[in-house]
Amino acid sequence: MKNKKLNAEQIWKHFEDLLVPRLRLSVTERAVYSHLLRHSHLEGRRRLRFSISWLARGVRLSTGPARDALRRLLARGVLRLVQRSRAGHLIEVRLPEEIRAARRPAPPPLAVPHEAADFLESKPLRQAIHARERGRCFYCLRRITPLVRCLDHVVPLARRGRTSYKNLVSCCLECNSQKGERHAGDFLRGLYRERCLTAVELTARLRALDALASGKLPPPLPAPAKPAPPAHTIHTESYRLV
Ligand SMILES: [Zn+2]
Repeated sequence: MKNKKLNAEQIWKHFEDLLVPRLRLSVTERAVYSHLLRHSHLEGRRRLRFSISWLARGVRLSTGPARDALRRLLARGVLRLVQRSRAGHLIEVRLPEEIRAARRPAPPPLAVPHEAADFLESKPLRQAIHARERGRCFYCLRRITPLVRCLDHVVPLARRGRTSYKNLVSCCLECNSQKGERHAGDFLRGLYRERCLTAVELTARLRALDALASGKLPPPLPAPAKPAPPAHTIHTESYRLV
């Protein structure tokens, strides 16, 4: 199948400027896709038959990561599995401009709380942390108003704490100032000794601290504007690759 004349410059710009950021392709996914693009469309064909070991050698990866990256690209509609046999995979490589997920507007950043997201970055994200605590200080449980509240790093920045929702809480200015760089658990036990918390509240707060660190307290975020995925961006399908 011969392609019409390709504009390689345009393809590369679509790849770098649209496909990579919109689909948040990892370094290995980028390497696999560009390698397959090179050996398909740039050789005048849409389809390519290859083995995982050929792919792994080409992108300088071991077979496991190469297979995983290929599976993710298939699941996201970047590639299409035409046939799988002992002879290898027959794959259709879609051009960046043909991938609908890359053409549609970028999803709103608030759609999914991502562990790596910086929740100090914007007001809506900061507000989401405050909303999660429902108007009470995470530590002493006192009612707080927007005038006397702030965001606290549970593990301080000085101790390499992150700005993820797993490490930020809404608290009163007093707790923020008194906690300083102390361990959050020690600070809560101090509040108990000072009778700011009951024994039951202390236990509940320590549990909340564990839940926070393990990602069980995601902040409430607005739903994405357009939840329906495009027709061939299949996120749930899995591919068994040999
Ligand atoms: Zn407090």
